[in-house]
Amino acid sequence: MKSLRDLELKGKRVLMRVDFNVPTDKENKILDDAKITAALPTIKYVLEQGGRLILMSHLGRPGGKKNGKYSLDKVAAHLSSLLNLPVTKVDDCIGEEVQQAVGKLQDGQVLLLENVRYYEGEEKNDPEFSRQLAALGEVFINDAFGTAHRAHSSTTGIADYLPAYAGFLMENEVAMLRKALGAGERPRMAILGGAKVADKLGLIHNLLNKMDIILIGGGMANTFLKAQGKNVGKSLCEDNLLDEARKIIQAAQDKKVRLVFPQDVVIADAISADAEAEIVDVDGVGSDKMILDIGPKTIEAYQKLIEEARTIVWNGPLGVFEYEQFAQGTRAITQALAASNATTVIGGGDTSVIVHELGLEEGITHISTGGGATLEFLEGVELPGVAVCEH
Ligand code: AMP
Repeated sequence: MKSLRDLELKGKRVLMRVDFNVPTDKENKILDDAKITAALPTIKYVLEQGGRLILMSHLGRPGGKKNGKYSLDKVAAHLSSLLNLPVTKVDDCIGEEVQQAVGKLQDGQVLLLENVRYYEGEEKNDPEFSRQLAALGEVFINDAFGTAHRAHSSTTGIADYLPAYAGFLMENEVAMLRKALGAGERPRMAILGGAKVADKLGLIHNLLNKMDIILIGGGMANTFLKAQGKNVGKSLCEDNLLDEARKIIQAAQDKKVRLVFPQDVVIADAISADAEAEIVDVDGVGSDKMILDIGPKTIEAYQKLIEEARTIVWNGPLGVFEYEQFAQGTRAITQALAASNATTVIGGGDTSVIVHELGLEEGITHISTGGGATLEFLEGVELPGVAVCEH
C-alpha cells in the first residue's frame, strides 16, 4: 500500500477520510469513542508533519439530506478534547464556506467537514460530488477501514482526482487481516460463531482455503449438527442449507482442513433471562429445546486446540452471549485467546465488543475496527477503499 510516510506533508492540504461513525444515545451523546481514538495516530502524524488537515466522515444514515441529528458537531468537540487542540468545524462538506475555511487553515491545523452523507452523491459515488470534495485537498488519505467496503465518493471516488495513500489505521488493519488469512505462522486457526451459516458462507469458503483448523460454534453450528443427523430441537437452524453444510464438511475433508463441531451444548426452553440452562451431549438435545451455547467439554477441547495454534482469527459469538446463562462459551474462548501466545486477530462487530466488555484487549494482537468491512476482507473480497490506496 502507498503509505503516508512516503509523503512530504508540510504546508499540504491533506484531505483525509476517517470513520467517525460513532454510536450515539437519544440525547446525541457519543457512547463509545473507539473509532475516533483509532484514527488519532494518523491525525497526530499529519499535524506534527505540518500538514493542513481536512477530515471528513459520515455519521449514521441521513439519506442524502441535511439533518442536525447526524451532525458531526459533537465529534468535533470530542476530537478537540482528545487532541488538546482547536478543531474548526464547518456546517457543510463542499461549497464556498468550506473553501474559505480550508483557505484559512495553517500548517498543523485541523478542520472537520460536515457529514458527507448529507449529499446523495456520496453513496452514489457521483463523480461531480467526488470532484468537489477532492478540490479541497492536494492529497487524499484513506484511514476509514470501517467504510472501506463501500465505493463512495469520500472513500474511493476522490482517488480519481487526487493521489491516494493509506493512513496508519488502514495500513495496520490490512496487514493484520492479511496475516490472519495467509501470511501468519501455522497452524492457522479460525473460530467461527454467530447466528447463521447464510451470513458466513463466503467467509467459510475463503477460510477453507487458508486455514488448517476451523472451530465452529454459535447458532451456525446447529445447521452443521443437523446436517450430520443430530436432533437440534427448536434451535435456530437453516434447513435450506443442510446440503450446503454437508458440502462444506466434504470440502474440508478434501482440503485436509480440520472442521471441529461442539461435542456438548447448553440448552434451554427459550432465549430469556430466566430460562433454565442444562448441559447435554450433542446427541441428547430434546425436541422442545434450543441449543444456546457450547458446553464445558467443547470449551475444554477448543481451549486445547487454541493452545496449539500459531495464528488465530475469530468472528462471531459462540452462544447467545447477551444472556448470562449462555455467555460462558464466548467468555472462555475470549480468555483462551487472550492467554494464547499465537497472533490473535478479532474480526470486528460483536466479537470486538465482547473483548472490550471483558477488558481483555491487552492479550489480543489485533482487534479489527471494522464490521462489514472486516467480514468482507476475510471473505477474500477486494475492498474498494483499500484498492485505491494500492494503485
Ligand atoms: P452474527 O451477527 O452473525 O455474528 O451473530 C451474532 C448473534 O448470534 C448474537 O446476537 C448471538 O446471540 C447469536 N447467537 C449465537 N449463538 C446462538 C445460538 N446458539 N442460537 C441463536 N443465536 C445465537
